[in-house]
Amino acid sequence: VKNLSFKYKNAKDYQITNFNLEIEKGEIVALLGPSGSGKSTILRLISGLEIPNGGEIIVNNRVLYNKNVFIEPQKRGIGMVFQDYALFPHMTVEKNILFGLEKINKEARQRILDEVLELVDMKEYKKRYPHELSGGQQQRIAIARALAPKPSLLLLDEPFSNLDAGLKKRIRKEIKEILKKSNITSIFVTHDIEDAKDVADRIECHPCEM
Ligand code: ATP
Ligand code: MG
Repeated sequence: VKNLSFKYKNAKDYQITNFNLEIEKGEIVALLGPSGSGKSTILRLISGLEIPNGGEIIVNNRVLYNKNVFIEPQKRGIGMVFQDYALFPHMTVEKNILFGLEKINKEARQRILDEVLELVDMKEYKKRYPHELSGGQQQRIAIARALAPKPSLLLLDEPFSNLDAGLKKRIRKEIKEILKKSNITSIFVTHDIEDAKDVADRIECHPCEM
């Protein structure tokens, strides 16, 4: 990400100015910063949910955004776990994970489902609904869903925010293991320095004068 800038249409000031971030393949980077500083906005810009006002976004040598290019979110190969997990409440775990993968043949779909559920250790929960799962389990399903389309980059927005201290410690370790096992490049947002230290290979701040 080079010199990224962005302003919400109804806002007076820019939320993001000259933001830069470089990540190696397989690296886990924590993006740390206070509430309202624009961390979620940065993830939304990288995944293509918002259109920047300037700068450049490149993943695996492919330009996703610059002054001439805007690649649609669904064509970016980027997975995202939202701040509130955002599982579909009326769909089972299985349906949640396979949502958007309808074009793939049935056998391959089943294989993907088993693979990602195995990764997050939730194989027995296919037929459950989100409200029948604990917070940490929902968290893992949200990650499994983001991994199902095999993204080259995974963005996680405060993946530990809804968890109690004990569970948080365990989930941090689990998430790190899941990310390292799948060797996936990832950025996770947090405002908790302990989260960042525990999970990330490297910590980036926003804003950086913190
Ligand atoms: P938190 O740690 O509380 O999640 P954050 O760092 O993720 O905060 P953002 O959600 O990126 O912060 O918001 C950055 C700024 O942009 C905030 O001042 C927020 O009020 C503003 N903002 C967010 N969404 C919109 C929107 N849709 N329209 C206008 N302003 C917005
Ligand atoms: Mg946020």
